[in-house]
Amino acid sequence: MKVAVFPGSFDPITKGHEDIIKRAAKLFDVVYVGIGVNQSKKYLFDTAAKLSMLNQVFKEVENVKVEVYEGLTLDFCKEKEAQFIIRGLRNSVDFEYEKNIAGMHLTLNPLVETVIMLTAPEYAAINSTIVRELIKNKADVSAFVPEGLNLYEYL
Ligand code: ADP
Repeated sequence: MKVAVFPGSFDPITKGHEDIIKRAAKLFDVVYVGIGVNQSKKYLFDTAAKLSMLNQVFKEVENVKVEVYEGLTLDFCKEKEAQFIIRGLRNSVDFEYEKNIAGMHLTLNPLVETVIMLTAPEYAAINSTIVRELIKNKADVSAFVPEGLNLYEYL
């Protein structure tokens, strides 16, 4: 069984995340979407809201499972018996950041391989930070988030 973890803050989920996760679901037997909780970070959406929005987005994709985890992504992989970590890559800034994390993860656990997937060009400009700013200013964010998801219901 090829088991993968897609970790992230999902504050909030965007069309970019959705696209990578759905594409990854075609490559792996199971994809665990891990909502990472870092107690020292302030989020716009709370964990329960993220869990419910992600479950709504992936309810029809049988091999995608949404979970919450605290602590290290590699520990979450161990818990799920995952051999792969999936990350999305939008641009060269993402690349420099992802390269470092993937390199450190490989040193810590050579049995877990990081798989980097390129973002589809139409989603490469989408960024959760900017979506949050738009929401704080009550803008329409439907072009950037999964179809049918009304983020204002989750605030
Ligand atoms: P983190 O805080 O771990 O970066 P994010 O939720 O912002 O959490 O991102 C999780 C993953 O999704 C990362 O691999 C990131 O590169 C990827 N990602 C973020 N935005 C997009 C996007 N627009 N298209 C594709 N992948 C994305």
